[in-house]
Amino acid sequence: MDKPLNIADILEYAATFNTDSQIVTRQVEGGIHRYSYGDALRRTKKLANALRSLDVHQGDRIATLAWNTYRHFELYYAISGMGAIIHTINPRLFAEQIIYIVNHAEDKYLFVDLTFVPLLEAIKDHIAVVKGIVVMTDAAHMPRSQVLPNLICYEDLIAPESEDFAWPEFDERTAAGLCYTSGTTGNPKGVMYSHRSTLLHAISACRSSALNLGPMSRVLPVVPMFHVCAWGIPYSAPIAGAGIVFPGAGMDGASLYELIDGEKATSLLGVPTVWLGLLNYIDSIKGNLDSVEDVVIGGSAAPRSMMEKFQDVYGVFPIHAWGMTEMSPMGSVCARTPYLAQADKETRARIQAKQGRAVFGVEMRIVDDQDQPLPHDGKTFGKLMVRGPWIASGYYRNDDRSAFRGGWFDTGDVSTIDPAGYMQIVDRSKDVIKSGGEWISSIELENHAVGHPAVAEACVVGIPHPRWDERPLLIIVRKAGAQVSAGELQRFLTDKVAKWWLPDDVVFVDALPHTATGKLLKTEVRSKFANHYLTQS
Ligand code: ADP
Repeated sequence: MDKPLNIADILEYAATFNTDSQIVTRQVEGGIHRYSYGDALRRTKKLANALRSLDVHQGDRIATLAWNTYRHFELYYAISGMGAIIHTINPRLFAEQIIYIVNHAEDKYLFVDLTFVPLLEAIKDHIAVVKGIVVMTDAAHMPRSQVLPNLICYEDLIAPESEDFAWPEFDERTAAGLCYTSGTTGNPKGVMYSHRSTLLHAISACRSSALNLGPMSRVLPVVPMFHVCAWGIPYSAPIAGAGIVFPGAGMDGASLYELIDGEKATSLLGVPTVWLGLLNYIDSIKGNLDSVEDVVIGGSAAPRSMMEKFQDVYGVFPIHAWGMTEMSPMGSVCARTPYLAQADKETRARIQAKQGRAVFGVEMRIVDDQDQPLPHDGKTFGKLMVRGPWIASGYYRNDDRSAFRGGWFDTGDVSTIDPAGYMQIVDRSKDVIKSGGEWISSIELENHAVGHPAVAEACVVGIPHPRWDERPLLIIVRKAGAQVSAGELQRFLTDKVAKWWLPDDVVFVDALPHTATGKLLKTEVRSKFANHYLTQS
């Protein structure tokens, strides 16, 4: 039968069959909220009716500036289910970027958590396209804003509405969600997800060869719903029958630990910096991660020291994963295999340092500068190209098609692929260091450097050098109270990388700049130290 895929069907299914699983939220207002998928469906239908009353139609963009909570989850389903488009905005973007994307997307309404009301107050004169702002809270917690006098209260909005709502049928290629990449240069670019792409991605992502979710799972996505749909968890968890634990605004180690421990979370997803915070906290209180089976680490390369800590100290299997906004985001996953289970520690570390094998639905290849395929021998570096049914074919309202060539998407990453299909990111193509015609991976150097006990964070950039074009510079944030010298760090790296890869110098800073998605902002680091080797010689 030619029945179109529709996001609303996920929640209908979960409400009927996932009666054992709960959705738990650390509320922005404080306290823990818990309810069933059935409760979520009933409130989602009230919300869909409310959106109709607000004159929202198919194709309208409805934006959110919100944490991972049950209300955000309801918006995911109500907006897309009624045929409109949920546009999740990353509140960590600069104000000018938020202004740009709200206007570019022509968002009709904005749903916002209490935390971000001041942010909207500051930019309100620049977002006149927005017809109304709904604060995701109840009447008791509604803010009184002088600047935004007409704020609508979420709970008041849905309270009078009916729990009956017939989801409309439409083509499965109808747009359902919109997310802008945080791009370090130029304006952010919009990536549109359809009902079809979202469902196919979610079905593939939850399998045991990918994120390993099932009815026994209680998954805690620390990855935000405001960026690439929390890696699709709001869709794949209900399909898998898993419960969800939403951390709200509490992303620090102590808040996360309390939730993991209290709710017996089994599966965690987040970027390396978040895990650094969590591991430091658990070490400091001598805690444990006894309920947790898997931790998915993606967004940036997972350092070996972090994976060993999870696996050998806390008994948690680290799943290294790679993807990007343009890929919904799942591309590859380093999942459990019989080979990995038996491997000795060195072999395991070597495999888990890779970003894994393509998940079903994603094809990968590496190419040279003429887009000619390169061998999958685990050694040859090339531009990583991908294609598949949940990979973008262009950017929203944007003519730039330079990354979309010959039916493939150029990820902007440089990688190797080995004969067993394991892909390893060498670098972003703009970050790879070109020294005397050879390439050096900044990621690999960083991963070794954070293995030093005194190092909290490491950044390696290639900067102009009078003789070699570029040479690596290592920039270090030391752990509080820890001491280490430049010479010591250089010696620490000598047996880990080729001699000519060793950074020529090491500098120490108090903090490193990050992008809105928590990655090192290397453009800024490079320009700050641009003259470092030129002035030295
Ligand atoms: P943005 O920060 O611009 O929104 P994304 O969130 O889409 O970008 O991030 C995509 C990029 O993040 C990838 O192209 C890759 O460079 C990097 N990345 C994601 N996962 C990993 C990983 N496991 N290891 C190394 N790099 C990763």
